[in-house]
Amino acid sequence: MTAYDPCAHCEEMMQPYMDRVITDTERAEAEAHLDECTYCRKRYRFEEKLRQFVRQAVQHEPMPVELKTKLAGLRTPLQ
Ligand SMILES: [Zn+2]
Repeated sequence: MTAYDPCAHCEEMMQPYMDRVITDTERAEAEAHLDECTYCRKRYRFEEKLRQFVRQAVQHEPMPVELKTKLAGLRTPLQ
């Protein structure tokens, strides 16, 4: 048994992955991890959705109240 935890670096790996500031090698590693890690896959999909939502939101100003409420709800999905 090794003590290696593939999720130990998830946070630092996924953050640049989502911001698209990584090299091809790093992206391949991140995608390989997403393939085998349910936790990160869920997390990534949620973050990706959230980012898309925010991107769309800033294009439509002013932000409707219902959209703000929706965003606030997305921030705390497991409450
Ligand atoms: Zn992971």
